[in-house]
Amino acid sequence: MCNSENHSHPTRRKFFQLTGASVVGAAVLSSQLLSTNVHAASKDDKAPPKPQNVLTPKEALDHLMQGNARYVDGVARRHDFRHDRDALTAGQNPYAAVLSCSDSRIAPEYAFDSARGDIFAVRVAGNFVSNEGLGSLEYAVAVLKTPLVMVLGHDGCGAVSAAVKMQKDKASYPGKIQEIARSLTPSVQKVLAEKGDLLDNAIRQNVIDTVDKLKNSSLILSEAVSSRKLMIVGGIYELATGKVKLI
Ligand SMILES: [Zn+2]
Repeated sequence: MCNSENHSHPTRRKFFQLTGASVVGAAVLSSQLLSTNVHAASKDDKAPPKPQNVLTPKEALDHLMQGNARYVDGVARRHDFRHDRDALTAGQNPYAAVLSCSDSRIAPEYAFDSARGDIFAVRVAGNFVSNEGLGSLEYAVAVLKTPLVMVLGHDGCGAVSAAVKMQKDKASYPGKIQEIARSLTPSVQKVLAEKGDLLDNAIRQNVIDTVDKLKNSSLILSEAVSSRKLMIVGGIYELATGKVKLI
């Protein structure tokens, strides 16, 4: 464990230097400088612990959806967590990052029939973007070279439902739950006049808005998208079937 800690420090240090540079001089940080720093971080990388996870964005999406198809059909693979333990002690190279709701019914590792080291999961009720969530995804992309980010909403989402009730019935919630509902309100407001079920429409709109936000509010992510190293997609998990439908 001590060796693995030492191994990870240079990469981690460079990432935080990079983050610091983004904060201090975001306006003047050219994309070329960013590329150089990201590239410098990659020089510290050794052979990836899971070579099969080195995929193009399109391959990563196919892989993820194939895993979901197995999960839906009830033919999930048997994952032997013992044999990959050594490789994963030294590092990680997940092929997908998933920003999903915290809802206990949609654990992304199960939904995509994945093993340890496959999915970098960021979870918050309502699957919206916080600064910390964005930083986590930037880390996955800039340092771990994850080629795919999926924003995963789900039907019957309690967090989005809370935002809908706040909007329509002036509902209020205790503690920080109110903050979550408030964060989701802009997406609800966009679909108030739309036909169909308001909650379903708001859930979908929230995923669309979250994908847009990831694409447009992070230099690290937008640079990776424009250089075709990263794809950012949205999906909705259907509780009754387990199926993830891409938006
Ligand atoms: Zn939810």
